[in-house]
Amino acid sequence: MGVRAEITAYLRDEIGAIDKEAPESVALVYPSPYRVAMSSLGYQTIYRTINSIDGMAAHRAFLPDDIEAWRHSGMPLVTYERLRPVSDYPVIAFSVAYETELAGLIETLELSGIPPLASDRTSRHPIVFAGGPLTFSNPLPLAPFVDAIVMGEADQSIHPVLRAIFDCDSRDSALRTLAAHPHVFVSGLHGDILPPIDKADSQKLPAFSQIITPHTELRNMFLVEPERGCHRGCTYCVMRRSTNDGMRVVKKERVLSLVPDAAKRVGLVGAATTDHPQITEIVNALADTGREVGLSSLRADRLTDDLVAALRRGGHRILTTASDGSSQRMRDAIQRGTSEEQLRRAALLARRHGLKRLKLYLMVGLPGETDEDIDEMVEFGKELSSLIPLSLGVAPFVAKRNTPLDGEPFAGINLVDGRLQRLRRGVRGRVDVRATSARWAWVEYVLAQGGRAEGLAVLEAVKSGGRFSDWKRAFDALPADRSRRSLVRPGNRLGRATA
Ligand code: SF4
Repeated sequence: MGVRAEITAYLRDEIGAIDKEAPESVALVYPSPYRVAMSSLGYQTIYRTINSIDGMAAHRAFLPDDIEAWRHSGMPLVTYERLRPVSDYPVIAFSVAYETELAGLIETLELSGIPPLASDRTSRHPIVFAGGPLTFSNPLPLAPFVDAIVMGEADQSIHPVLRAIFDCDSRDSALRTLAAHPHVFVSGLHGDILPPIDKADSQKLPAFSQIITPHTELRNMFLVEPERGCHRGCTYCVMRRSTNDGMRVVKKERVLSLVPDAAKRVGLVGAATTDHPQITEIVNALADTGREVGLSSLRADRLTDDLVAALRRGGHRILTTASDGSSQRMRDAIQRGTSEEQLRRAALLARRHGLKRLKLYLMVGLPGETDEDIDEMVEFGKELSSLIPLSLGVAPFVAKRNTPLDGEPFAGINLVDGRLQRLRRGVRGRVDVRATSARWAWVEYVLAQGGRAEGLAVLEAVKSGGRFSDWKRAFDALPADRSRRSLVRPGNRLGRATA
């Protein structure tokens, strides 16, 4: 498919896109492909917010599905709403969710004909800033590529940030004005000191979809956030209670009032949706209208007979929850607050209500984990699979800034792969195991704990082709004394490992 045809095909199937022309316009860029971007509630919310401001418009652009095809087309990256080159806009705003999306940010700048390094740009280039979920932990590797970073929830700060940029008559004065904002990091003025993350006023909640499209992971689903944040204290989690004072709840009536008549599928999205005191009523109310209901982040201790029955009415076929630690010892160590008994009960509830499968998420490579912890999950997984078909979704542990486990080393690719093998071998024929890559988890780790130098290494990796070997070479070339960020080379094992 040609690059213009790709855009036309996506636009044709959208409901809710905003077609606004305004004197002040922003290219709102997502550094991953369209189908990922349009599943992002934060991206969709900022799109609507900017377009609701008098005299301002936001036009979307994405990392192309086929970057090479786009490059060969010779066409610069353009916005979907206007087919206007991204480089023509005075302001480019990126929404960044994950560490490895830095590569997409670099690629989109290059495809736009904009030098990726902020230091190579001049006053004729747009002002480039970033926000998004990554700013809750460690956006410092983005610093060489952007002029500013909006920290935390940008629901209300996006307006003054854009006003500051459009009202200033020069790039320098705009950046000085932004630097005075309590939640904006300006790369050239703030060194490596990040300001605190912002917290949106409760009146700004909930976030909800603007555009419904069949071309996302969550096909044709209207997303709404019945609560934001979490009051729990899992020590690996960026969204724990210490972030923005815990959970903020939106009343059932308000949530339901936002669901458009045309939405046949509704996704309730949030850090801890099952902790919403009215979650069962919300799911039932949606199911009563014949809608399919999706729910993120089900906590096993919150699963009741009524809630699982409501989920079944809302079309759930799989009950998904998390163990996170592979053993009770590990769950306790990370303060997960989930017991075997609760997980067993989740399996029984799923079976009782006719769901087809239980899916459990867990991490391997947590600090202090041993083979015995994996063996406990093997035995427990076999037990659960005798109650209901079981899948395990396994991710290597990556320590994040702004959490109590910040600074814990990466367990090592060999160790994580060894533990995965042990788990797979132990449950073979009984449990379906899907795991994310240990090698890319190591990349994520280096960036999660890294700074500007690690960010610059990503530029080298992208230039070299973006394969894992390119990333490894670029990170290995960093000075060896980069302290804790280079604690473990990718193949190493930790002292306590027995794998
Ligand atoms: S992992 Fe879930 S329950 Fe734990 S603190 Fe994070 S959002 Fe809350």
